[in-house]
Amino acid sequence: MRDYQPTHLDPRAPLVLDTRDLPRTPGAMRALERVVPAPSDLGLELIGVPEGSPISLALRLESVSEGVLVTARAHAQLGGECGRCLRDISDTLDVEFVQLYAYEHSTTDETTDEDEVGRVHGDLIDLEPELRDALVLALPLNPICREDCPGLCPDCGVPWDELPTDHSHAQADPRWAALSRLKKRP
Ligand SMILES: [Zn+2]
Ligand SMILES: [Zn+2]
Repeated sequence: MRDYQPTHLDPRAPLVLDTRDLPRTPGAMRALERVVPAPSDLGLELIGVPEGSPISLALRLESVSEGVLVTARAHAQLGGECGRCLRDISDTLDVEFVQLYAYEHSTTDETTDEDEVGRVHGDLIDLEPELRDALVLALPLNPICREDCPGLCPDCGVPWDELPTDHSHAQADPRWAALSRLKKRP
């Protein structure tokens, strides 16, 4: 049996769902859609969901004997930088997750660890941890602006995409310049 840590969820928080109008009769369902501002620190080093950007959620709440089963689809904005050329990337990300939120004192609640399933606190569910996990897991570890991004010129650090095709630093080195002069000699 687990110890109860009182959790006080703010019913007005954008990612807290109120299940009061979902009858606790197995099979009862509610569908809802909402757009929430992205919480802070949602992402990895190079790419993430910008804080405050809109995340569209399509949710289905289903009453099951042990709690509420939530099926969530989320559409989020992505912002970051290309791991090769460091230019800004903006993209979108779609994720889906299904999570059981157990009622307090249900068998599931009393026989599973805190991190195995979610919990219904009173009538409230906090979607944030699962949404965060789903989004972060779906982020690219090595974001690139496009498949064949050529990266940066190692000498001047300018993206190859922004340099003329004949860009070269060969002449900048006096030794190479001297060599090419030698080569040109008849
Ligand atoms: Zn790039
Ligand atoms: Zn260069």
